[in-house]
Amino acid sequence: MSLDRFGVESPDVVRAPVQDRHDKDLKACPECGQPVGEPTTLKISGPVVVDDVQIDALITRAYRCRSHAYDVVLPQRVGKGAPGYGDEWTTVRVQFADERVRHVAVPNRVIPE
Ligand SMILES: [Zn+2]
Repeated sequence: MSLDRFGVESPDVVRAPVQDRHDKDLKACPECGQPVGEPTTLKISGPVVVDDVQIDALITRAYRCRSHAYDVVLPQRVGKGAPGYGDEWTTVRVQFADERVRHVAVPNRVIPE
């Protein structure tokens, strides 16, 4: 059940995408195994940001699985600083639902100077 109708924005569950069992070019949700399509730019609600930065909204490139009562957000795997994304992106470290900390791409503009 979604909490949206009570006016509460529930935090997204943040997980690392896994390879689809049948097609290694596809990404899938580690919770239900469904393919998750193409990544889009989206906002993660309530992320656990490990770095000492104050960001209001964590915007990133991620897949989303809608097969659950809650949103599962699967950020694209990136290296530190998101070198493949160009100059307008950097990374912050986020703790995922499996308690591992990974780099997540964010636009520079969401990080205060
Ligand atoms: Zn799923």
